[in-house]
Parts: sequence; C-alpha cells; structure tokens
Amino acid sequence: MTPDLLLPTAPIVRPDKDRFLNEENPFEGMMSRFDRAAELLDLEPGIYKVLRHPEKQIITSIPVMLDNGEVEVFTGIRVLYNTSRGPAKGGIRFDMNVSLDEVTALAAWMTWKCAVVNIPFGGAKGGVICDPLKMSVGELERLTRRYTASIIQTLGPDSDVPAPDVNTNERVMAWIMDTYSMHVRHTVTAVVTGKPVEMGGSLGRREATGRGCMIVTKQALAHLGMPLKGTTLIVQGFGNVGSVAAQLLQREGCKIIGISDRTGGYVNPKGIDVDEAIAHVKQHKTLEGFAQGDRVTNEQLLTTDVDVLLPAALENVITSKNAAQIKAKIICEGANGPTTAAADAILDEKGIFVIPDILANAGGVTVSYFEWVQDRGGYFWTEQRVNDSLTQIMEQSFDAVLNLSKQHKVNMRTAAYMLSISRVATVHRLRGIYA
Ligand code: NAD
Repeated sequence: MTPDLLLPTAPIVRPDKDRFLNEENPFEGMMSRFDRAAELLDLEPGIYKVLRHPEKQIITSIPVMLDNGEVEVFTGIRVLYNTSRGPAKGGIRFDMNVSLDEVTALAAWMTWKCAVVNIPFGGAKGGVICDPLKMSVGELERLTRRYTASIIQTLGPDSDVPAPDVNTNERVMAWIMDTYSMHVRHTVTAVVTGKPVEMGGSLGRREATGRGCMIVTKQALAHLGMPLKGTTLIVQGFGNVGSVAAQLLQREGCKIIGISDRTGGYVNPKGIDVDEAIAHVKQHKTLEGFAQGDRVTNEQLLTTDVDVLLPAALENVITSKNAAQIKAKIICEGANGPTTAAADAILDEKGIFVIPDILANAGGVTVSYFEWVQDRGGYFWTEQRVNDSLTQIMEQSFDAVLNLSKQHKVNMRTAAYMLSISRVATVHRLRGIYA
C-alpha cells in the first residue's frame, strides 16, 4: 500500500467553523461542511460518529497484461460510504490523481446527494490510479474487467451500482455489466447506470446533469428576482455537464459570455454561440482555436464580471485565494467540490447565492435512478417522461433546500447538508444499531 492510500486521517472533532485542516483535501472539506450541519441539527453523538465513517473501503491490486506483453499492476479503490437508505450509488473514475481520501470524500458526497433529491440510494465511489489516455482500448478493457472482478463482492443491483465518472464512459459501463453478468451467469442490466441505450441505458441520461443545472439556475434566478432573458453566464469546463448546461440555458434566453476547457477560455460580452462551440469541440476535441471572443486563462474566467458562474470542470477552483474577486451573483456548482470550505465564508460575506454541488449536479444521479428503475421493471420510458420527472425532482429539492435555508438562516450549502444528513440520520434511528 502506498502512503497516499492510508485511511483518511481527519480526526473526529466536534464542529469548529473556523477549523479547516487543509483547504485542498476534499475529505476534510466535505467533513467541515458535515460538521457544521451536524452541529445545527444537534445530531446525537452516536449517529454523528457513524456518519463520519465510511462503511467499507476496498483497495485492490489489478494486474493487467499490457499490449507489449509486460504485466503492470494498478491500484483500484471502491468506497461504500453509507447504504442505510438503499444500494450504494456512485461513479468510477480512471485518473492518476485518484486517492483513498478523494474517493472517500466523493462517496460521502454521493450519500448526501442521493438524500438531498430523496432517491433511495446510499453513496459510493470508485477509482483506479491510471492514465487512461496512455492506454489502448484493449488495455482499458482488461483493466476494467479485472477491477470489476476484484470488487464483485460489493457489486449488484441491490448492493452497489456504479456509473461513469472522470475518464470512464458508456463503453466502460458495458464492460462492467458484461463482466458481472458472466460471473452471476445471467444478464443483469441494473448493476450499472450510464450504459448505452441499446443495452438498458436511459434516454436523457447523457444530458441529465447539465439539464439539472439549468433547472436549478432558473429557480435561483426566479428566487432573486432576476430575469432569465439576457442574464449573463460563464461556464468553466465544456464537457458533458458544462456544454449541456450552457446549451440549455442559452435556449432559455441566457447570454453565454464565457466558456473554457483544460486548454483555456474565451470571453465575449456580446455572447458566444454554444452550438458552434460544441461543434468545434466535436471536431477538434478541445476549445483550442475557437475564434469567438478574447482568450483568457481559467483563473481570469472565474473572476470575470457576470451574473451566473457555472464551474463544471474540477474540484477546488474557487478557493480562499480568488473567492473575494468573484463577481457573479449566483454560482451553480456543476462540478463536484469546486468551492473549498474556506471559500464558502468569503462568498457568504459577498452575498453570492451558491447552489451547492450536492443539489446542483444531482440531475445525473437522479436519471441514473430512473435507469435503474427502468432496468428492474424491464419497461423503458420516453425521453419526455425522463425529463419531466427530473424537472419535478430538481424543483422540489431546490424548494426544500431553500425553505430550510430561510428557516435556519443558513446558506444553501449548509441547508442542503442539513436536509440530507437529517434524512440519512432518520433512517439510522429507525433501523437502530445491529449488534
Ligand atoms: P468531462 O470530462 O465531460 O468534462 C470536463 C471538462 O472540464 C472538459 O471540458 C475539460 O477540458 C475541462 N477541464 C479539465 N481540466 C480543466 C482545467 N484545469 N481547467 C478548466 N477546465 C478543465 O466531465 P463531466 O462529466 O462534464 O464532469 C465535470 C464535473 O462535473 C466533474 O467534477 C464531475 O465529477 C462532475 N459531475 C459530473 C456528472 C455527470 O453526469 N457527468 C454528474 C455529477 C457531477
């Protein structure tokens, strides 16, 4: 085991709002938000302790025969944070930055996210430390199948249901579904979501996260009395979430004045044609060379004057270092963990309305839930039914979080944590501690 794979070390402390051990450690950032909400809920010590610990962490070595005949051993992780409300749900990422701390934080976020939108899932996350861009399709398939076999004891439609995440996609989900089905000797479509539609995937799943961002942004604008038409928007990250959110909000009348990806960004106060940007990325793989607007860095993009900022790329992009310079009135967190805990207080002081990640990007897992329901029922919905059901859940969840935030005079993030933690805690109280 490498040193960075040691168990998360955040000590169990009672809440202290000014104590952030390490701004960039996602597990500590998540826990500091959890602590604040737990204090406001006056959570009893027993449940507080239970919810501060992941239920299960698997670390596994994955030997893979490379195309050149050599064997490489990769490290794979799967964390089930909490399954009190239902099967564990959460994506699998293939990335060099995967660590147990990060996967555990993401698994906890999945727990709170599923509870915020009140779908009957617990939270999980998985990852393999690898650089998929340097691997062939054959190597990726062997890696995926061996990782699946290594964690097969947790997988299953009633126990643990993965989905795509960073650098994994429909094809990877198809390999996981096939490997699992071969082991149990019958086809089990509901063991993963985000599959190709031809083999049990759901219509509307690909667009679901961006669509969810669009729905809650509209609600935030209405809440603040801001018009939809002409409202300016900047999107960081132009992948699945960012490009769909930008496209749908443009169709609703917003003016997209800035977009970016890992190669940098473009700002144009007159507005950017999102469909053209999507076509550019389809052809060239990145935004590089997209001619509409002035070239800016991702750092400059975040602090540009705008009504709505939608970070949809990475963790930890809004920090104590740049939060004071953010000019947006609304931040819709399409990405997981784009704002550090230390930055929250600065955004609060500035009066910025933040739609937190566990609410803003919950559209993806909500439609994953619809996919799981469709697979288990063997009956598939129209895209209209998927989108209508998603809209209903996102709107209800936004209203529930907003009401709680008004009731307790807390920001939307704390309210979202309070709502989700109270839902998970209620189930723990009802179920009791099995001895
Ligand atoms: P993606 O891979 O499709 O797109 C990521 C985008 O971010 C790309 O445009 C990439 O170029 C850009 N990017 C990468 N590094 C960057 C950098 N340093 N600066 C600026 N941009 C950079 O990924 P995605 O599925 O759109 O996911 C984006 C975020 O949303 C992640 O945090 C993910 O965990 C979160 N999320 C995704 C879903 C989903 O359903 N896809 C659901 C919930 C949350």
